[in-house]
Amino acid sequence: VPETSEFWDGLERGAFLLQTCADCGHVRFPPTAMCRVCLSVDARWQAASGGGEVWSVTRVERPPSPDWQGEVPYWLVVVQLDEGAKVLGRLRGVSSDHGVEIGLRVNFAIGDPGDGEGRTRYWFTP
Ligand SMILES: [Zn+2]
Repeated sequence: VPETSEFWDGLERGAFLLQTCADCGHVRFPPTAMCRVCLSVDARWQAASGGGEVWSVTRVERPPSPDWQGEVPYWLVVVQLDEGAKVLGRLRGVSSDHGVEIGLRVNFAIGDPGDGEGRTRYWFTP
């Protein structure tokens, strides 16, 4: 999908890029061809701060596939970025529910592209 390729290409280079409307400044995530605020089709890409706050938390108990058996439990979070967009990702760097709550400050982290898992992954850490 052309709208999202810039995002993934950015991750490959270690950059967290957000699509921003060239006309009204609305941050679009996931990237879209048209701005839902002003209907503009013009956009630019800019580096995100990477900071945000946990907006929702889900504790995952059952692995989505057998390969993930050793990973559970883990936390999926929707993070409201400082730029305003909401991004779903895994919360890593926590070992218990303690402190995992709405409003927790987190940072975007980019995985190692050379870890053999193909597409570069990302997650959040406190
Ligand atoms: Zn717009």
